[in-house]
Amino acid sequence: MRWDTTQILNIKILKKLDDWWEGLCHGCGKCCYEKHFLHNGTLVIDYDRPCRFLDEDTKRCRVYVNRFNACKECKKITLWTALFSPALPPDCGYVQKIRTPFRKPFSYFILKKRF
Ligand code: SF4
Ligand code: SF4
Repeated sequence: MRWDTTQILNIKILKKLDDWWEGLCHGCGKCCYEKHFLHNGTLVIDYDRPCRFLDEDTKRCRVYVNRFNACKECKKITLWTALFSPALPPDCGYVQKIRTPFRKPFSYFILKKRF
């Protein structure tokens, strides 16, 4: 099968987007531990219970390429999870780069309405 220029361009754009998205993770590994929530909704990460595939020294996943098959708890970070999941810590790269800037205009708007 021969691909035309548009298809090749689309693949390159998608690859760039994917690289950008992956690059938002700064590899802290905090999403690879068991977690629970307090009554007030505060996220608590249990650092005594890492995923069995997490290398705790490097904070890298040992099965990264195959992680969704290897671990049934492992979920892809989507735009939805980046924006709304309570299971991501506040210093997660996705929370800082996607959620915070997205929510800021709304908080400015609410503040403006109040005063
Ligand atoms: S399988 Fe998923 S949860 Fe487990 S270490 Fe790898 S990325 Fe983290
Ligand atoms: S908590 Fe966020 S920044 Fe840290 S490893 Fe998980 S996805 Fe990456």
